[in-house]
Amino acid sequence: MAKEKTLEDLFYDTLKDIYYAERQILKALPKMARAAQSEELKAGFLEHRDQTEGQIERLQQVFEIIGRRAQGKTCEAIQGIIAEGEEIMEDFKGTSALDAGLISSAQAVEHYEIARYGTLKTWAQTLGYKEAATLLDQTLQEEGATDQKLTKLAGTAANAKAAA
Ligand code: FE
Ligand code: FE
Ligand code: FE
Repeated sequence: MAKEKTLEDLFYDTLKDIYYAERQILKALPKMARAAQSEELKAGFLEHRDQTEGQIERLQQVFEIIGRRAQGKTCEAIQGIIAEGEEIMEDFKGTSALDAGLISSAQAVEHYEIARYGTLKTWAQTLGYKEAATLLDQTLQEEGATDQKLTKLAGTAANAKAAA
């Protein structure tokens, strides 16, 4: 009989999922910065790109804490979210609605991350990985702050312009 899988295994699988996702996000953010029309949005994407590097390092620390190899596992959800963003970039290139579209894609990314990190933090606590829970919470806070900044940007420049 196959060995029963545990929450520990699920935690590891989900870490691999977000590790893959973060690396895809790291590649996508400079493209989004290049596409953005507003300087504030461009700067925001580049700032979050730098934060993402730190988030990847935190994940590597978590892998180390649990004594497992840092490796990614294809996340079809993030692939789909990023593909939708690319579609918006194509379809709304040169239009006044482009930035609003980029913000909406970026928020879909952040919401996926918030869901994952919230879960991972809870599981780390359940499994007794206190230090890992702290690291995961730090990233959760950053993703939340990024989401809020995007909401603000959506309410101002981008959407006002799109409505014009
Ligand atoms: Fe992230
Ligand atoms: Fe996933
Ligand atoms: Fe993020």
